[in-house]
Amino acid sequence: MPAQPFACGECHMILADKVDQCPRCPTARVSTDWQGFVIIMQPERSEIAKRLQVSQPGQYALKVNIY
Ligand SMILES: [Zn+2]
Repeated sequence: MPAQPFACGECHMILADKVDQCPRCPTARVSTDWQGFVIIMQPERSEIAKRLQVSQPGQYALKVNIY
């Protein structure tokens, strides 16, 4: 089973392979336990982006479980 990348618990961004710290929120906790992969191209036009409070295009997880 391939390792799942980390997702940021703060901004929900899915991080690059082997990266365990979010470049946007370095103090935020990250988790490999997340669900719902979404690619947001135009945050200003996206309902999901509004719900996740995303302002930058990128790859995001809908739900990040932080323990
Ligand atoms: Zn983040």
